Amino acid sequence: MSTHPTLQAPVNPQLESKFFSAPLEIRQEIYGYLIPYGVHAYLRQGKLYLSACVESCANGGLFGAERRESSDWRASDPVWQRRLRSSWGPHWKCEEVALRMNHNCEAVSDTDMAMLRACRRKYMDIVNFTVDMAAVHVTDLDTLDYLLQRAQKASSETSTVSEYLATVVPHVQNLSIVLRLPLTICKVLESANDHCSSTSSLTNATAWLRLCPAIAGLKRLQRLHIWLDHDDKSSWSVVNERAILSPLNELTSISSLNISVNLPKLHPRYETPESHFMRECPTPPFAIERRLRQRHHAVDVGEGQFVVRYQVDFPYLYDLSDYEDMSEDEAEEMERTMWKNGVDVKAEVGKIVGGLDAVAP
Ligand SMILES: [Zn+2]
Ligand SMILES: [Zn+2]
Repeated sequence: MSTHPTLQAPVNPQLESKFFSAPLEIRQEIYGYLIPYGVHAYLRQGKLYLSACVESCANGGLFGAERRESSDWRASDPVWQRRLRSSWGPHWKCEEVALRMNHNCEAVSDTDMAMLRACRRKYMDIVNFTVDMAAVHVTDLDTLDYLLQRAQKASSETSTVSEYLATVVPHVQNLSIVLRLPLTICKVLESANDHCSSTSSLTNATAWLRLCPAIAGLKRLQRLHIWLDHDDKSSWSVVNERAILSPLNELTSISSLNISVNLPKLHPRYETPESHFMRECPTPPFAIERRLRQRHHAVDVGEGQFVVRYQVDFPYLYDLSDYEDMSEDEAEEMERTMWKNGVDVKAEVGKIVGGLDAVAP
């Protein structure tokens, strides 16, 4: 299946090549036009791979309908369901590229990363350049664990592409961690934090609490971006985001490191100063950006079957701003005030939508 080459033989220095007779700066300028702004680093059968990031607005709020290709909304759509469940979250398309799930998308990745297969010297040149210049996205804790462990090891001579990557990628300067965790794991992370003395109970679920402080071991890191969500249709605000992000505190003392976090908008009904970075609270030592959350969710109904459910997280009046003479921000502020005044906006919207359904033929 995989067409990735391996480096068994020594590297040909390509001395006769006009391309390599150009100075490194010129070559890097050329790579700058060819390399994607972001790449994904991921493990597959214990080996590290890079693939192109093909998502240009991964921080933005898209509700999930854009992941659907079929136009027949009545038909069950397994591809859409899989995309909605993607643990790569907004990078669902990149997952298809990386894991070669979708033949159309694969063609895109092949053109972007084809240069990697040109020759070994160019490959090494480009990998070095990419790790220096591009955002490196990691979408699972196993890969993060692997990178952090490799960062501890002194670089040894490498014989394969994967080994070469494994020594270079820990030199990352711009790391993006994208975690769409099962809600149950978010809950474990919250409670694990309450009694953090019991380190023996560290499991896969709590790997994040151990790995996050270890990011300090990436010595050349300048930017750390974290995108976080859980995979349930219930509100983001049911989780304790302060507890989940508390291991970041150990990184905020690194003055050369710029940390930013992208989280779903908080629900005014469920937010509390103990569990959430509310606007009214003192600002944390990292930047927080809030986004609109996924609304279409593939829900497990047992026996390997899924159905897509539409569930809005705050704000509910977002769509209605089209009809009123106000911006989306103004509509959100108005709704926030309504919730704070005790209005159940969700129920009110439900009445309106239900009423419309009732009169529809
Ligand atoms: Zn991506
Ligand atoms: Zn294919």
